Amino acid sequence: MKLIDMVNEVYNPRFEGYTVYFTVKGKEKPLSWAWTSPIRLTFDGKYPEREWASISEMLKNLFPEQWLKVKHHFEDERTQQKLDEVKHSADLVRISHSKDEPPVDVQFQWEGPINLTGSGKYDVGLINGTWAVQYSYRCAIDDYDLVTLYFDRKPTPGMLRTAQLVEEIETFFNFHGWEKVFFRCWECGRKLHWLDIDLDSIPEQWEAYQESYCGC
Ligand SMILES: [Zn+2]
Repeated sequence: MKLIDMVNEVYNPRFEGYTVYFTVKGKEKPLSWAWTSPIRLTFDGKYPEREWASISEMLKNLFPEQWLKVKHHFEDERTQQKLDEVKHSADLVRISHSKDEPPVDVQFQWEGPINLTGSGKYDVGLINGTWAVQYSYRCAIDDYDLVTLYFDRKPTPGMLRTAQLVEEIETFFNFHGWEKVFFRCWECGRKLHWLDIDLDSIPEQWEAYQESYCGC
């Protein structure tokens, strides 16, 4: 039986607005299409399969017609392609926010912002032979986020800043909606894509975008 058929049978998915609801143990639970981490499907114990699935991929398959109507809210190919290039240029492999990540074998440290917890610095070193920068910061009164960035080579502060900027941009659009890649310049009134801002680098374009300024 295909995953999609099992999902339809067990979870009775329903689509409304930008939200998909799964029925779990008689109760409807909302799922966000913007949720990028995988989920574990238990199928209420009805099937032995317990598959990890990316929510967005699964929902694209479940609701292909609705997806076409709302996809501009969830993705922008041009931005994604550009950010992939930037990640590649910084030799960034991936970013983890899991507290289960193994600790880095610290070789050196960089000063960081004052809200860092743990060592209070950016710890740089190896995890299972791969270069990584690891740090934690308080994200709630009683909670913290452990961030681990994996790189293809020994990282520099510039590589860390680039990786953090990429994540900031992705988080912004995931939170506010990817249709926001288009904006109106407060100065000249033109409506344009943020990557059309007439400046030389992504950090400069991103700063101007946040001021709704096209570089005119
Ligand atoms: Zn302008």
